[in-house]
Amino acid sequence: MILDLRKYEDFPVRELLDIEPSQVRLFRDDVKKIISVLIDLSIQKSSEEYFCRSKITARVMLECSRCLEETLTELYETADFIICSANRTAVKDKDIVDDEDYVYYQGDELRVDLSDIVYQTLILALPMKPLCSETCRGLCPRCGMNLNTGRCNCRVKEPDERWRGLRNLFNQ
Ligand SMILES: [Zn+2]
Ligand SMILES: [Zn+2]
Repeated sequence: MILDLRKYEDFPVRELLDIEPSQVRLFRDDVKKIISVLIDLSIQKSSEEYFCRSKITARVMLECSRCLEETLTELYETADFIICSANRTAVKDKDIVDDEDYVYYQGDELRVDLSDIVYQTLILALPMKPLCSETCRGLCPRCGMNLNTGRCNCRVKEPDERWRGLRNLFNQ
């Protein structure tokens, strides 16, 4: 996921980057497949630093945490970061600087790898417990049937103890 800044002559630049999904890994078991990743990137240059604003949109198949079916989910998150030379150690001395917001290039290369930025941004956008729908009924705890597709024959509710005395009365 290499961004080559040498190809731009005039700033600001706006670019849509269509990332090959196989280059993105999200390291979570419930992410079953990454279908597409798009970065809408704006770059402004200021002396030797490149200020980047990005909107990252990804379409992923997530496993529903209730029924375990795969569900298509669109993730969206913004990420701002600054690209600068790894030689600019002065930058790191500023106490206000959060190192995570910086992406460094080596020497005069002007090439950076955006993998970390994309990974960190999409991980934040992932729901903690993905759902296929807010009203997902999940699986029957007894037989494992997907209750969105119908009803099983399990008696999930135990009879209320308070009725027992009355029932015994009738049975006498
Ligand atoms: Zn579900
Ligand atoms: Zn059941």
